[in-house]
Amino acid sequence: MNKQDYYVILGVSKSSTADEIKKSYRKLAMKYHPDRNPDNKKAEEKFKEAAEAYSILSDATKKQRYDQFGHAGVDGSSGAGQSYSDMDDIFEHFGDVFGSMFNQGSSGRKKKVGPAPQRGHDLSQEITLSLKESYLGCKKEIGVYRYVICSDCNNKGTAPGTSVVVCTDCRGSGQVAMRQGFFSFAQQCGGCWGQGFKIPSPCSICRGQTRIQKHERVTVTIPAGIYDKAELRLNGKGDSGVFGGTSGSLFLTVNVKEEKQFFRKDVDLYTTITLPYHQLVLGCEVDVKNIDDTFEKIKIPHGCPVAKEIVILGKGFKKIQGHGVGRLIIIVQCDIPTKLNKKAKEALSEYADNLGDIPSGKDLFSSFFKKFLG
Ligand SMILES: [Zn+2]
Ligand SMILES: [Zn+2]
Repeated sequence: MNKQDYYVILGVSKSSTADEIKKSYRKLAMKYHPDRNPDNKKAEEKFKEAAEAYSILSDATKKQRYDQFGHAGVDGSSGAGQSYSDMDDIFEHFGDVFGSMFNQGSSGRKKKVGPAPQRGHDLSQEITLSLKESYLGCKKEIGVYRYVICSDCNNKGTAPGTSVVVCTDCRGSGQVAMRQGFFSFAQQCGGCWGQGFKIPSPCSICRGQTRIQKHERVTVTIPAGIYDKAELRLNGKGDSGVFGGTSGSLFLTVNVKEEKQFFRKDVDLYTTITLPYHQLVLGCEVDVKNIDDTFEKIKIPHGCPVAKEIVILGKGFKKIQGHGVGRLIIIVQCDIPTKLNKKAKEALSEYADNLGDIPSGKDLFSSFFKKFLG
């Protein structure tokens, strides 16, 4: 079924102020109010529709989600959408809007008795990513063991055709007065365990619990640049609520696995390249493989010292907060061969003999360590 646009329902535009939205809703609510349209199903539908639209557009966060994603952003298990099936719910929710308009009508309505909606618990879980996945962002499927709404009774806990009844022992208060000698004190009602209501015929699937435990597969979208120990919040993916309460959230703690060839520091990505001595001395051009398997062509200057950092801007991690991308930093290392054939050995000796004017080994040694020791 296609849902009508909330802005159209309320006759407002995206740029309308909160006050204009409220005014427009008031007008509609007045027009279709049940007290003015007794037994008019159509008016009742309009009234509910307007209340649903207002519940979203009057809430800055929900409005933003709706503007961005439409109905998909505020519907379903995310718990953000509020679809009203009961007129009393509407009066409970928007008392402030109706307060002055329908003094008699709304305040004269008796408070709904029966189970109060309870929000579901938040859940927490861990998720492990490779460094590459954290660099690129990814979609991951995880298993979540959570309470979901019992679809047989639609979160009501009652068998089809039956309903919750007020506990007659305590008349819905959940407490009974006990008398002992001169003293009188309140005690939890034993007939309803202090709940104030009973479910005479519980739903056979959830046994009156209004929800059932289920193992669910949930697809999580991980943003590029996510860092180790970051916490992601999935609204509505915690336990479902009881008796129409909203769902809790699922908190995911991210673990990023370490890798041999790459590591992360702040938003910079580090890697190393190991080159033979002669390439460092003479200089060269090489391709370095980045973590996303793309290649960066870099220039090694002649006389390149060991541990030199070659910086490439914009190829590090995406910043999660704010804009921008870190750097890719390539640390140059020297490959020292442990095995040389006779010919190479001779050539190296000859080379050593010919070094001539090049600064002494002692200076080279000290400058190398200065780099590390600061
Ligand atoms: Zn009771
Ligand atoms: Zn059920």
